[in-house]
Amino acid sequence: MEPQQIVVDSYFDGQHLNDRGPYVFSLSQGVIQAIRQGECLDPDVLTQRGVFLMPGMVEAHCHLFLDGGELDLSKRAAYLKFSREAMLAVGRQSLAQAAAAGISLVRDAGDIHGINLQLRSEQGALSATNPTVLCPGRAIRNAGRYGGFMATAMTDEASLDALVADLAGEADQVKILMTGLIDFEAGEVKGPPQFTLQQARRITQIAKARGRRTFAHCSGVAGIDIALAAGIDSIEHGFFITRQQLRIMADQGVSWVPTFSPVHFQWARPELAGWSAQTVTKLEQILDGHRQQLAYAYEIGVPVLVGSDAGSPGVRHGYSYVEELMLMVGAGVRLEQILHSATALPRRLWGCSAANIAIGSSADMVLFDKSPFDDLAALRHVAATYKGGNLQIVSA
Ligand SMILES: [Zn+2]
Repeated sequence: MEPQQIVVDSYFDGQHLNDRGPYVFSLSQGVIQAIRQGECLDPDVLTQRGVFLMPGMVEAHCHLFLDGGELDLSKRAAYLKFSREAMLAVGRQSLAQAAAAGISLVRDAGDIHGINLQLRSEQGALSATNPTVLCPGRAIRNAGRYGGFMATAMTDEASLDALVADLAGEADQVKILMTGLIDFEAGEVKGPPQFTLQQARRITQIAKARGRRTFAHCSGVAGIDIALAAGIDSIEHGFFITRQQLRIMADQGVSWVPTFSPVHFQWARPELAGWSAQTVTKLEQILDGHRQQLAYAYEIGVPVLVGSDAGSPGVRHGYSYVEELMLMVGAGVRLEQILHSATALPRRLWGCSAANIAIGSSADMVLFDKSPFDDLAALRHVAATYKGGNLQIVSA
Protein backbone atom coordinates (compact mmCIF):
# COMPACT_ATOMS: atom_id res chain seq x y z
CA MET A 1 0.00 0.00 0.00
CA GLU A 2 1.31 3.45 -1.02
CA PRO A 3 2.38 5.77 1.81
CA GLN A 4 -0.13 8.57 2.40
CA GLN A 5 -0.36 11.65 4.56
CA ILE A 6 -3.33 13.55 5.97
CA VAL A 7 -3.40 17.16 7.15
CA VAL A 8 -6.09 18.42 9.53
CA ASP A 9 -6.69 21.27 11.98
CA SER A 10 -7.85 19.04 14.83
CA TYR A 11 -8.55 15.41 15.69
CA PHE A 12 -10.32 13.23 18.26
CA ASP A 13 -8.03 10.34 19.20
CA GLY A 14 -10.70 8.06 20.72
CA GLN A 15 -10.57 9.79 24.13
CA HIS A 16 -9.77 13.46 23.70
CA LEU A 17 -9.96 16.33 21.28
CA ASN A 18 -6.59 17.58 20.04
CA ASP A 19 -7.09 21.06 18.64
CA ARG A 20 -3.67 22.69 18.38
CA GLY A 21 -3.11 21.79 14.77
CA PRO A 22 -2.28 21.62 12.03
CA TYR A 23 -1.38 17.96 12.40
CA VAL A 24 0.11 15.68 9.79
CA PHE A 25 -0.51 11.91 9.92
CA SER A 26 1.73 9.58 7.96
CA LEU A 27 0.27 6.23 6.94
CA SER A 28 1.93 3.25 5.42
CA GLN A 29 1.08 -0.48 5.37
CA GLY A 30 -2.39 0.52 6.61
CA VAL A 31 -0.96 1.76 9.90
CA ILE A 32 -0.44 5.24 11.40
CA GLN A 33 3.36 5.62 11.38
CA ALA A 34 3.75 9.20 12.62
CA ILE A 35 1.75 12.14 13.94
CA ARG A 36 3.43 15.54 13.67
CA GLN A 37 2.28 18.93 14.83
CA GLY A 38 2.84 21.71 12.29
CA GLU A 39 2.51 21.53 8.56
CA CYS A 40 5.67 19.89 7.27
CA LEU A 41 4.56 17.80 4.33
CA ASP A 42 6.42 15.31 2.20
CA PRO A 43 5.83 16.65 -1.34
CA ASP A 44 6.17 13.19 -2.91
CA VAL A 45 3.44 11.52 -0.86
CA LEU A 46 -0.27 11.34 -1.67
CA THR A 47 -1.91 13.96 0.55
CA GLN A 48 -5.46 14.35 1.79
CA ARG A 49 -6.52 17.61 3.37
CA GLY A 50 -9.38 17.84 5.79
CA VAL A 51 -10.43 19.76 8.87
CA PHE A 52 -11.09 17.05 11.45
CA LEU A 53 -10.05 13.39 11.86
CA MET A 54 -11.32 10.70 14.21
CA PRO A 55 -11.41 6.88 14.47
CA GLY A 56 -13.98 5.08 12.33
CA MET A 57 -17.25 4.84 14.22
CA VAL A 58 -18.88 1.74 15.69
CA GLU A 59 -22.57 1.02 15.06
CA ALA A 60 -23.43 -1.14 18.08
CA HIS A 61 -26.94 -2.18 17.07
CA CYS A 62 -28.41 -2.50 13.59
CA HIS A 63 -30.15 -5.00 11.35
CA LEU A 64 -28.25 -4.99 8.08
CA PHE A 65 -30.83 -7.08 6.22
CA LEU A 66 -33.56 -4.44 6.75
CA ASP A 67 -33.90 -1.16 4.88
CA GLY A 68 -34.93 1.42 7.46
CA GLY A 69 -35.87 3.84 4.69
CA GLU A 70 -38.84 1.65 3.77
CA LEU A 71 -41.75 3.18 5.68
CA ASP A 72 -44.66 1.28 4.11
CA LEU A 73 -45.56 -1.37 6.69
CA SER A 74 -47.19 -3.71 4.17
CA LYS A 75 -44.06 -3.56 1.98
CA ARG A 76 -41.93 -4.24 5.05
CA ALA A 77 -44.05 -7.32 5.86
CA ALA A 78 -43.89 -8.57 2.25
CA TYR A 79 -40.10 -8.10 2.23
CA LEU A 80 -39.70 -10.71 4.99
CA LYS A 81 -40.74 -13.34 2.41
CA PHE A 82 -38.24 -12.18 -0.23
CA SER A 83 -35.43 -14.42 -1.47
CA ARG A 84 -32.11 -14.68 0.32
CA GLU A 85 -30.42 -12.99 -2.66
CA ALA A 86 -32.75 -9.99 -2.41
CA MET A 87 -32.04 -9.70 1.30
CA LEU A 88 -28.30 -10.00 0.72
CA ALA A 89 -28.49 -7.15 -1.78
CA VAL A 90 -30.17 -4.99 0.88
CA GLY A 91 -27.53 -6.02 3.42
CA ARG A 92 -24.68 -5.09 1.10
CA GLN A 93 -26.29 -1.73 0.46
CA SER A 94 -26.70 -1.18 4.22
CA LEU A 95 -22.98 -1.79 4.72
CA ALA A 96 -22.08 0.67 1.96
CA GLN A 97 -24.35 3.28 3.54
CA ALA A 98 -22.73 2.72 6.94
CA ALA A 99 -19.24 3.01 5.40
CA ALA A 100 -20.10 6.30 3.72
CA ALA A 101 -21.27 7.73 7.06
CA GLY A 102 -17.88 6.98 8.63
CA ILE A 103 -18.73 3.67 10.35
CA SER A 104 -15.94 1.08 10.25
CA LEU A 105 -17.34 -1.59 12.58
CA VAL A 106 -20.93 -2.76 12.95
CA ARG A 107 -22.50 -5.21 15.36
CA ASP A 108 -25.56 -6.66 13.70
CA ALA A 109 -28.46 -7.52 16.01
CA GLY A 110 -29.73 -10.57 14.18
CA ASP A 111 -31.84 -12.04 11.40
CA ILE A 112 -33.15 -15.58 10.85
CA HIS A 113 -32.02 -15.75 7.21
CA GLY A 114 -28.29 -15.90 7.87
CA ILE A 115 -27.75 -12.57 6.13
CA ASN A 116 -25.53 -11.13 8.87
CA LEU A 117 -23.38 -14.28 8.83
CA GLN A 118 -23.05 -14.14 5.06
CA LEU A 119 -22.08 -10.45 5.16
CA ARG A 120 -19.44 -11.23 7.77
CA SER A 121 -17.98 -13.93 5.54
CA GLU A 122 -17.89 -11.58 2.52
CA GLN A 123 -15.97 -8.98 4.48
CA GLY A 124 -13.22 -7.27 2.56
CA ALA A 125 -14.02 -9.26 -0.58
CA LEU A 126 -16.98 -6.97 -1.23
CA SER A 127 -15.17 -3.70 -0.62
CA ALA A 128 -11.91 -2.94 1.17
CA THR A 129 -13.53 0.05 2.82
CA ASN A 130 -16.67 -1.70 4.11
CA PRO A 131 -17.13 -1.94 7.88
CA THR A 132 -16.07 -5.04 9.77
CA VAL A 133 -19.16 -7.05 10.79
CA LEU A 134 -19.73 -8.70 14.17
CA CYS A 135 -22.88 -10.76 14.37
CA PRO A 136 -25.10 -12.99 16.47
CA GLY A 137 -26.46 -15.03 13.55
CA ARG A 138 -29.93 -15.63 14.93
CA ALA A 139 -31.02 -14.22 18.28
CA ILE A 140 -32.91 -16.39 20.78
CA ARG A 141 -36.50 -15.78 21.89
CA ASN A 142 -39.25 -17.72 23.62
CA ALA A 143 -41.76 -19.57 21.43
CA GLY A 144 -44.76 -17.45 20.51
CA ARG A 145 -43.10 -14.24 21.64
CA TYR A 146 -41.71 -11.16 19.85
CA GLY A 147 -38.86 -11.35 17.38
CA GLY A 148 -39.67 -14.03 14.78
CA PHE A 149 -37.82 -12.13 12.03
CA MET A 150 -34.53 -12.15 13.92
CA ALA A 151 -34.65 -14.95 16.48
CA THR A 152 -34.95 -18.68 16.73
CA ALA A 153 -37.40 -19.91 19.38
CA MET A 154 -36.86 -21.98 22.50
CA THR A 155 -39.73 -24.46 22.08
CA ASP A 156 -39.02 -26.55 25.17
CA GLU A 157 -36.66 -25.93 28.02
CA ALA A 158 -34.94 -29.28 27.66
CA SER A 159 -33.39 -28.18 24.37
CA LEU A 160 -32.26 -24.76 25.63
CA ASP A 161 -28.64 -25.72 26.32
CA ALA A 162 -28.14 -27.31 22.90
CA LEU A 163 -29.83 -24.39 21.17
CA VAL A 164 -27.63 -21.78 22.84
CA ALA A 165 -24.49 -23.84 22.22
CA ASP A 166 -25.48 -24.03 18.56
CA LEU A 167 -26.06 -20.25 18.34
CA ALA A 168 -22.81 -19.49 20.16
CA GLY A 169 -20.95 -21.58 17.59
CA GLU A 170 -21.75 -19.21 14.75
CA ALA A 171 -22.04 -15.94 16.70
CA ASP A 172 -19.49 -13.33 17.69
CA GLN A 173 -21.90 -12.38 20.49
CA VAL A 174 -25.14 -14.08 21.58
CA LYS A 175 -28.30 -11.97 21.39
CA ILE A 176 -31.29 -12.63 23.64
CA LEU A 177 -34.77 -11.20 23.25
CA MET A 178 -35.52 -10.64 26.91
CA THR A 179 -38.73 -8.66 26.44
CA GLY A 180 -41.25 -7.60 23.83
CA LEU A 181 -41.63 -4.25 22.10
CA ILE A 182 -42.97 -1.06 23.65
CA ASP A 183 -46.67 -0.34 23.48
CA PHE A 184 -46.48 3.37 22.64
CA GLU A 185 -50.16 3.96 23.33
CA ALA A 186 -49.90 2.52 26.84
CA GLY A 187 -46.38 3.86 27.34
CA GLU A 188 -45.06 0.52 28.64
CA VAL A 189 -43.46 -2.73 27.52
CA LYS A 190 -45.75 -5.37 26.00
CA GLY A 191 -46.08 -8.54 28.08
CA PRO A 192 -43.87 -10.09 30.74
CA PRO A 193 -40.17 -10.95 30.19
CA GLN A 194 -39.63 -13.76 27.68
CA PHE A 195 -37.34 -15.82 29.94
CA THR A 196 -37.23 -16.63 33.65
CA LEU A 197 -34.11 -15.73 35.59
CA GLN A 198 -33.07 -19.37 35.59
CA GLN A 199 -33.42 -19.67 31.81
CA ALA A 200 -31.65 -16.36 31.19
CA ARG A 201 -28.82 -17.43 33.47
CA ARG A 202 -28.36 -20.67 31.56
CA ILE A 203 -28.19 -18.74 28.31
CA THR A 204 -25.48 -16.37 29.58
CA GLN A 205 -23.53 -19.19 31.22
CA ILE A 206 -23.48 -21.37 28.11
CA ALA A 207 -22.53 -18.39 25.96
CA LYS A 208 -19.76 -17.41 28.37
CA ALA A 209 -18.44 -20.95 28.56
CA ARG A 210 -17.96 -20.67 24.79
CA GLY A 211 -16.26 -17.30 25.10
CA ARG A 212 -19.19 -15.25 23.82
CA ARG A 213 -20.50 -11.99 25.20
CA THR A 214 -24.27 -11.61 25.45
CA PHE A 215 -26.54 -8.70 24.57
CA ALA A 216 -30.23 -8.46 25.36
CA HIS A 217 -33.08 -6.70 23.62
CA CYS A 218 -34.63 -5.48 26.81
CA SER A 219 -36.93 -2.70 28.02
CA GLY A 220 -38.93 -2.27 31.21
CA VAL A 221 -37.96 -2.76 34.83
CA ALA A 222 -38.86 -6.47 35.10
CA GLY A 223 -36.91 -7.55 32.02
CA ILE A 224 -33.87 -5.43 32.86
CA ASP A 225 -33.83 -6.86 36.41
CA ILE A 226 -33.70 -10.39 35.03
CA ALA A 227 -31.08 -9.50 32.41
CA LEU A 228 -28.80 -7.94 35.04
CA ALA A 229 -29.24 -10.78 37.53
CA ALA A 230 -28.52 -13.27 34.74
CA GLY A 231 -25.19 -11.63 33.92
CA ILE A 232 -25.99 -10.15 30.52
CA ASP A 233 -23.10 -8.04 29.18
CA SER A 234 -25.19 -5.39 27.41
CA ILE A 235 -28.69 -3.96 27.69
CA GLU A 236 -30.07 -2.91 24.30
CA HIS A 237 -32.77 -0.21 24.15
CA GLY A 238 -33.38 -0.21 27.93
CA PHE A 239 -36.41 2.04 27.87
CA PHE A 240 -37.86 2.67 31.36
CA ILE A 241 -34.53 1.76 32.97
CA THR A 242 -34.17 2.94 36.58
CA ARG A 243 -31.30 4.76 38.28
CA GLN A 244 -30.82 1.78 40.59
CA GLN A 245 -30.39 -0.46 37.53
CA LEU A 246 -27.93 2.00 35.99
CA ARG A 247 -25.90 1.97 39.21
CA ILE A 248 -25.68 -1.83 39.03
CA MET A 249 -24.53 -1.53 35.42
CA ALA A 250 -21.85 1.01 36.36
CA ASP A 251 -20.65 -1.30 39.15
CA GLN A 252 -20.60 -4.42 37.00
CA GLY A 253 -19.45 -2.85 33.75
CA VAL A 254 -22.64 -3.80 31.88
CA SER A 255 -22.99 -1.69 28.76
CA TRP A 256 -26.08 0.17 27.58
CA VAL A 257 -27.08 0.86 23.98
CA PRO A 258 -29.99 3.29 24.34
CA THR A 259 -31.15 3.35 20.65
CA PHE A 260 -33.10 6.63 20.72
CA SER A 261 -33.71 6.64 16.97
CA PRO A 262 -36.62 4.20 16.45
CA VAL A 263 -38.70 5.83 19.19
CA HIS A 264 -37.66 9.31 18.12
CA PHE A 265 -38.86 8.53 14.61
CA GLN A 266 -42.31 7.52 15.92
CA TRP A 267 -42.44 10.84 17.76
CA ALA A 268 -41.20 12.88 14.79
CA ARG A 269 -43.53 11.26 12.22
CA PRO A 270 -46.67 10.27 14.20
CA GLU A 271 -48.90 10.50 11.10
CA LEU A 272 -47.23 7.40 9.58
CA ALA A 273 -48.52 5.08 12.28
CA GLY A 274 -51.55 7.24 12.98
CA TRP A 275 -50.57 8.05 16.59
CA SER A 276 -53.02 10.23 18.52
CA ALA A 277 -51.96 13.43 20.28
CA GLN A 278 -52.11 11.45 23.51
CA THR A 279 -49.69 8.83 22.18
CA VAL A 280 -47.35 11.57 20.95
CA THR A 281 -47.30 12.90 24.51
CA LYS A 282 -46.46 9.38 25.76
CA LEU A 283 -43.63 9.16 23.21
CA GLU A 284 -42.31 12.49 24.36
CA GLN A 285 -42.37 11.34 27.99
CA ILE A 286 -40.53 8.13 27.08
CA LEU A 287 -37.84 10.09 25.22
CA ASP A 288 -37.52 12.65 28.02
CA GLY A 289 -37.04 9.92 30.60
CA HIS A 290 -34.50 8.22 28.35
CA ARG A 291 -32.51 11.46 27.93
CA GLN A 292 -32.40 12.00 31.68
CA GLN A 293 -31.23 8.44 32.32
CA LEU A 294 -28.57 8.78 29.62
CA ALA A 295 -27.11 11.87 31.29
CA TYR A 296 -27.13 10.01 34.63
CA ALA A 297 -25.53 6.92 33.07
CA TYR A 298 -22.58 9.00 31.85
CA GLU A 299 -22.35 10.77 35.18
CA ILE A 300 -21.89 7.50 37.09
CA GLY A 301 -19.75 5.70 34.51
CA VAL A 302 -22.04 3.21 32.76
CA PRO A 303 -20.26 2.08 29.59
CA VAL A 304 -22.69 3.54 27.04
CA LEU A 305 -22.39 2.49 23.39
CA VAL A 306 -23.99 4.01 20.30
CA GLY A 307 -26.48 1.97 18.30
CA SER A 308 -29.18 3.34 16.05
CA ASP A 309 -31.24 0.15 15.55
CA ALA A 310 -31.00 0.92 11.82
CA GLY A 311 -33.36 -1.21 9.78
CA SER A 312 -36.27 -0.27 12.06
CA PRO A 313 -38.93 1.88 10.39
CA GLY A 314 -37.47 5.29 9.60
CA VAL A 315 -34.00 4.38 10.90
CA ARG A 316 -31.57 4.38 7.97
CA HIS A 317 -28.14 2.75 7.97
CA GLY A 318 -25.41 5.35 8.35
CA TYR A 319 -27.56 8.46 8.21
CA SER A 320 -29.54 7.60 11.37
CA TYR A 321 -26.39 6.64 13.26
CA VAL A 322 -25.31 10.27 12.99
CA GLU A 323 -28.81 11.25 14.09
CA GLU A 324 -28.38 8.97 17.10
CA LEU A 325 -25.14 10.77 18.03
CA MET A 326 -26.98 14.07 17.81
CA LEU A 327 -29.86 12.83 19.96
CA MET A 328 -27.36 11.67 22.59
CA VAL A 329 -25.64 15.06 22.58
CA GLY A 330 -29.14 16.53 22.95
CA ALA A 331 -29.43 14.73 26.30
CA GLY A 332 -26.73 17.06 27.62
CA VAL A 333 -23.73 14.73 27.34
CA ARG A 334 -20.39 16.21 26.20
CA LEU A 335 -19.46 15.42 22.60
CA GLU A 336 -16.08 14.00 23.67
CA GLN A 337 -17.88 11.40 25.80
CA ILE A 338 -20.31 10.51 23.03
CA LEU A 339 -17.49 10.10 20.51
CA HIS A 340 -15.59 7.88 22.96
CA SER A 341 -18.75 5.72 23.11
CA ALA A 342 -18.86 5.74 19.31
CA THR A 343 -15.22 4.74 18.75
CA ALA A 344 -12.78 3.48 21.39
CA LEU A 345 -15.12 2.04 24.03
CA PRO A 346 -16.98 -0.64 22.04
CA ARG A 347 -13.74 -1.91 20.48
CA ARG A 348 -12.20 -2.28 23.92
CA LEU A 349 -15.26 -3.98 25.47
CA TRP A 350 -15.64 -6.37 22.57
CA GLY A 351 -11.95 -7.26 22.36
CA CYS A 352 -11.50 -5.76 18.89
CA SER A 353 -8.20 -4.18 17.90
CA ALA A 354 -8.05 -0.52 18.84
CA ALA A 355 -8.51 2.12 16.16
CA ASN A 356 -7.49 5.06 18.31
CA ILE A 357 -5.65 7.78 16.43
CA ALA A 358 -2.21 6.86 17.72
CA ILE A 359 1.08 5.70 16.29
CA GLY A 360 0.89 2.00 15.48
CA SER A 361 -2.91 1.86 15.18
CA SER A 362 -4.62 0.45 12.14
CA ALA A 363 -5.75 3.38 9.99
CA ASP A 364 -9.52 2.98 10.44
CA MET A 365 -10.44 6.64 10.38
CA VAL A 366 -12.91 9.16 9.13
CA LEU A 367 -11.98 12.57 7.77
CA PHE A 368 -14.41 15.50 7.88
CA ASP A 369 -14.35 18.85 6.16
CA LYS A 370 -15.70 20.61 9.26
CA SER A 371 -15.23 19.94 12.97
CA PRO A 372 -18.22 18.66 14.98
CA PHE A 373 -16.74 20.51 17.95
CA ASP A 374 -17.52 23.75 16.08
CA ASP A 375 -20.84 22.59 14.65
CA LEU A 376 -22.46 19.23 15.39
CA ALA A 377 -23.90 19.11 11.87
CA ALA A 378 -20.32 18.62 10.68
CA LEU A 379 -20.83 14.91 11.43
CA ARG A 380 -22.80 14.83 8.19
CA HIS A 381 -19.81 16.14 6.21
CA VAL A 382 -17.65 13.05 5.79
CA ALA A 383 -14.92 13.85 3.29
CA ALA A 384 -13.18 10.47 3.23
CA THR A 385 -12.83 7.24 5.15
CA TYR A 386 -9.87 4.94 5.73
CA LYS A 387 -10.20 1.24 6.45
CA GLY A 388 -6.88 -0.47 7.13
CA GLY A 389 -5.39 2.46 5.24
CA ASN A 390 -7.67 2.00 2.20
CA LEU A 391 -8.98 5.38 1.21
CA GLN A 392 -12.53 6.05 0.08
CA ILE A 393 -13.40 9.59 -0.93
CA VAL A 394 -16.98 10.29 0.11
CA SER A 395 -17.43 13.91 -0.94
CA ALA A 396 -14.98 15.86 -3.08
ZN1 LIG B 1 -32.85 -4.16 17.04
